[in-house]
Amino acid sequence: MWDFVVAGAGVIGVSIARELRRRYRAKVMVIEKESSPGRHASGRNSGVLHAGVYYKAGTLKARLCVDGNRRMREYCLAKSIPINQNGKVIVARSLEELPSLRELYIRSQSNGVCVELVDTLALKDIEPCAKTVEQALYVKNTAVVNPQRVMDALVADAVEEGIEFRFDCAWWARDGQDVANTSQGRIAYGHLVNCAGLFADKIAHQFDVGRQYRILPFRGQFYRLRPESKVQVCGNIYPVPDLRNPFLGVHFTRRPEGEVTVGPSALPLLGREQYRGLVGANASDGLAMIMYLLRLFGRNRDHFRSIAWRELVKISRSGFYREAEGLAVGFEPGDLLPGKEPGIRAQLVDTKTAELLSDFVIEPGPHSTHVLNAVSPAFTSSEPFARHVVEMIKE
Ligand SMILES: Cc1cc2nc3c(=O)[nH]c(=O)nc-3n(C[C@H](O)[C@H](O)[C@H](O)COP(=O)(O)OP(=O)(O)OC[C@H]3O[C@@H](n4cnc5c(N)ncnc54)[C@H](O)[C@@H]3O)c2cc1C
Repeated sequence: MWDFVVAGAGVIGVSIARELRRRYRAKVMVIEKESSPGRHASGRNSGVLHAGVYYKAGTLKARLCVDGNRRMREYCLAKSIPINQNGKVIVARSLEELPSLRELYIRSQSNGVCVELVDTLALKDIEPCAKTVEQALYVKNTAVVNPQRVMDALVADAVEEGIEFRFDCAWWARDGQDVANTSQGRIAYGHLVNCAGLFADKIAHQFDVGRQYRILPFRGQFYRLRPESKVQVCGNIYPVPDLRNPFLGVHFTRRPEGEVTVGPSALPLLGREQYRGLVGANASDGLAMIMYLLRLFGRNRDHFRSIAWRELVKISRSGFYREAEGLAVGFEPGDLLPGKEPGIRAQLVDTKTAELLSDFVIEPGPHSTHVLNAVSPAFTSSEPFARHVVEMIKE
C-alpha cells in the first residue's frame, strides 16, 4: 500500500512527489505510461523560465511564477545545468500594441517582477536585432534551459530521495475504493495525485471531478534559425501577445546549447498526442474535438475564431515566417530550418461556457487531487506549484 500514487512523470508529477516525500517522509510511487520521464510537454517545451510578466494580480500564475523562476534558476545553477540568463525583450510591432505593452509593465510591477520600459536605442544594446515601435519591455530574469536536462535531474533527485518510479505503467481506471487498475496490475494507495497532463481530465472524470472540463490539445511547432542568418539573438525576443489569447505567440529563443528556436505555433488537434500530421488522431476523440471546436467557433468566446485562424495560417512556413518577421531586423524566409520536436499543450476548456481557462486549475476529489490545467508557465513554476498542491492535500 502506497501513501501516495502520482500519475504522470512530467515536471508537475515529479515535483509533487518530491514535495510529498520531503514533507511527510511518505511512501510515494510515480506511475508513468511512457518508458521514461518528460516525454510530453515537460520535455518538449520552449524551456523558457518565465519571470511573471503576463499574469493578472491575484491569479495562481502570478503567485507561483515569480518564485518558481528564482528557484528553477537556482536549481539549474546548483546542478550545473546549462542556462542562458540573457533575459528577454517584448517588442511592439505596431502602435496598436503599445497599450498592451504598458499593461504588461503594470502587471509586472504588481507581481514584483524586475522590468524596464526601454526606447529603441536602449533596445539595441540589449538585443541588437530586435525591432520595436517606440518602446519595448526588458525582462532581466527570463532565462532558458533545456527542459529534458531539468527533468532528468529532478527524477535522479527523486529516486535518491526514496521515490519509486514505475515506467510503462498506465493508469487505466479506479478499481473500487483506493485501488488503481494499471497496465501493470492493481496498486493500492491512500491518495492519488493526478498529474496526467493531456489525459488528466479523463482520470478526473473517473472520480466524478471536473465533469464540466475537457482538455483540448494544441500543438506547438518549432523552427530553428539558420546559423548563418543575419539575425543575432542573445536571449529572447517575444511579441506583445493578444492578452485575451492563452498563448504567447511565436518568439526567438537562444537555447543554452547555442541554437536559436523560432516558435511555437498553437495548432488545434484531432488527437491528444498527434505529434505529426494525422498520426495520433483518432476517430472518437477527433470527432468530439471537431464538434467542440465548431461550438467554440460558433460562440467565438475569447476571440477563438481569430486565434484559430492566425494559428492555421502558421501551418505553412510562409505563414509562420510572417508571424515572426516583425520581431527582428534582417530576418528572411530562408532563415527558417526544421526545428526541434513539437510539444502539445493540454489546454483546459469549460464545456459549459466554452471558455479557455487561463489560470492553473487544481481540483480535490475523493482520496485524490487532480491537476487539470498545468499550462505554461507550469514548468517554470513547478516547485511552488508542488508546494501549493501539497498544501491543498493537507487541507
Ligand atoms: C510547445 C510548448 C511550449 C511551452 N513552453 C513553456 C515555457 O517556455 N515555459 C514554461 O514554464 N512552460 C512552458 N510550457 C508548458 C509546460 O511544458 C507545461 O506546463 C508542463 O510541462 C506541464 O507539466 P505536466 O507534468 O503537467 O505535464 P506533462 O509533461 O504532459 O506530463 C504528464 C505525464 O503524464 C503521463 N500520463 C498521461 N496519461 C497517463 C496515464 N493514464 N497513466 C500514467 N501516466 C500518464 C504522460 O505520459 C506524461 O509524461 C510549454 C508547453 C508546450 C507544449
